[in-house]
Amino acid sequence: MKLFDLTGQRVLVTGASSGLGLHFAKTLAAAGARVAIAARRVERLHDVVGELNAQGYEASAFALDVTSRQSVIECMDAIEEELGGLDVVVNNAGVSDTKRVLDYNDRDWHAIVDTNLRGAWMVAQEAARRMVKSGREGSLINITSILASRVGGGVGPYSAAKAGLSQLTRSLALELARYGIRVNSIAPGYIATEINEAFLGSEAGERLRARIPSRRFCCASDLDGALLLLASGAGRGMTGAEIIVDGGHACSGL
Ligand code: NAD
Repeated sequence: MKLFDLTGQRVLVTGASSGLGLHFAKTLAAAGARVAIAARRVERLHDVVGELNAQGYEASAFALDVTSRQSVIECMDAIEEELGGLDVVVNNAGVSDTKRVLDYNDRDWHAIVDTNLRGAWMVAQEAARRMVKSGREGSLINITSILASRVGGGVGPYSAAKAGLSQLTRSLALELARYGIRVNSIAPGYIATEINEAFLGSEAGERLRARIPSRRFCCASDLDGALLLLASGAGRGMTGAEIIVDGGHACSGL
């Protein structure tokens, strides 16, 4: 076995129109996977598919709103029709907000928990049902956060949703192991992307960086090793695990 090789593996990345999801799709395609990239606005994915195809990679775009069971089912149906099924799913779609506990309203709560937790649950459940039905083994990878285990101001609902997803990963791992389906998570720390560039470069960002033991924010490519390990046969002995990639932030001293 060639470690970390994904040749012929069919991989779905949710929320792949930007940020980490987009990077994950490119990394998995470069490792040989046929990638299905999914997001709410499918038209935003066509450029990415074109870019990947131009580099000789196999990629297709699918419409998906992870907060809708109907949309998840339709997306999986479309993938099954085009790729014949899935071997790996990266539950990446997520949303966050920053408000004080006293200022959040029910709509905020539902939007955050619905996407990060219920959405990941529905995608994992529908994918696992199809893997079991077809007798295929597989790997599900949930993107959590160091906020699943540590706390930070202003992100209560997000932290609760990610903590839920972290525990859900272990429940899924327990029940799906008998079918050869591995379920693990990656908990990133603060990853420098275009979206948080301004904040991470600000004074507040500098104060945050000073509390990270390695004194640096990770970048998207720092997640590649964990992603390829969990997606490929190199991680065949792993299920129910969480890999933290945060430059040591989660173990910073009190
Ligand atoms: P991002 O906002 O760039 O990406 C999130 C993606 O999810 C977007 O493409 C968005 O369109 C998609 N999405 C949102 N709601 C959706 C829905 N209902 N259906 C389908 N897609 C939907 O943010 P990111 O930083 O790339 O985050 C990716 C994942 O990594 C998220 O789960 C996030 O919580 C997690 N994460 C990010 C960091 C970080 O520092 N960037 C740290 C820890 C965890």
